[in-house]
Amino acid sequence: DRPATPPVIRPLDEAAINRIAAGEVVERPASAVKELVENALDAGASRIAIDIADGGKTLIRVTDDGCGMTAADLPLAIARHATSKIDGSDLLNIHSFGFRGEALASLGSVGRLTLTSRAQGHDAAQISVAGGRVGDVRPAALTRGTVVELRDLFYATPARLKFLRTDRAETQAIAEVVRRLAMAEPHVGFTLTDTTDGDSRLLFRADPQSGDFFDALHGRLTGILGADFTQNALRIDIPRDGLHLTGYAALPTYSRGSGAQQFVFVNGRPVLDKLLLGALRVAYYDFLSRDRHPAAVLNLICDPQRVDVNVHPAKAEVRFREPDAARSLIITGLRTAVSGAGHRASTTVAD
Ligand code: ADP
Ligand code: MG
Repeated sequence: DRPATPPVIRPLDEAAINRIAAGEVVERPASAVKELVENALDAGASRIAIDIADGGKTLIRVTDDGCGMTAADLPLAIARHATSKIDGSDLLNIHSFGFRGEALASLGSVGRLTLTSRAQGHDAAQISVAGGRVGDVRPAALTRGTVVELRDLFYATPARLKFLRTDRAETQAIAEVVRRLAMAEPHVGFTLTDTTDGDSRLLFRADPQSGDFFDALHGRLTGILGADFTQNALRIDIPRDGLHLTGYAALPTYSRGSGAQQFVFVNGRPVLDKLLLGALRVAYYDFLSRDRHPAAVLNLICDPQRVDVNVHPAKAEVRFREPDAARSLIITGLRTAVSGAGHRASTTVAD
């Protein structure tokens, strides 16, 4: 039935707006971990420690040794659409993981969030926000960097809480996020610790790697995927037409029963991109039987102007200005590398 008078249109209040935004940005504890670790990386951290409890549902704590924030900036950090990373005039020139200024505001509206931070030359300070209610900035004790503590994620949105999986499944999703970011940033050290019930169980550890990008990545991938992967992987370093494909791609003989060892990054950002993963499959098509899958860790570097990262709330997808160029670089680049290696291998055998 049509109402006699039209319903009244009202602007939503700030807390409701943030909670709606949080629904898109923070789907589960792993998305919160991703946002917080990306913030630590954007802050130039060289070591990042992640502590979680109960699958991240009761606690996610990310500690970094990055640039920190001043007391004056703490309220801005948790305000929506406030960011230090872009000036808003050029959404096609993004060099950081973050740019929306949305993550901390969202997390503070659906959980209990405390930021403790210290910028060089400043005193440490702390701010808390819970269910969207912001507390005062207080002095704190911290030698450097930032500690972001998120407790009771989704306590303010019980419907979302019900959709979460078991602690075990949520912990696995968190570990996967950390693993991917650790592959993207081999010079940075990571630890992931499960502190459920006051215990302290190390789930993942990746020590900072030294050397140039390829050396560091090689060391990191040996740690994460195993020496079996790196010993069977080809170094990929192919510049073409303003794009640059880098990383390691395994020989066809090291194929997998699933796509679980396929990791693609665009300008260092982990993505689940159908275009790039599809190209990877096509590149190996002639070398693998249908039930086998290639293993590769690939980073496609391009001018940020040529890729739009602002198409997905969690930034998991990107849009290329020239998708065909990206696709064909992966297909022909990897094909050439793999068939060249096959040649060398068979020559060695013949010798
Ligand atoms: P975005 O990352 O898109 O800018 P966030 O809500 O994630 O938005 O963070 C807001 C701002 O808070 C950032 O732009 C940054 O200035 C600051 N910030 C957040 N986390 C950290 C951190 N770990 N170290 C230093 N500054 C941080
Ligand atoms: Mg961010």
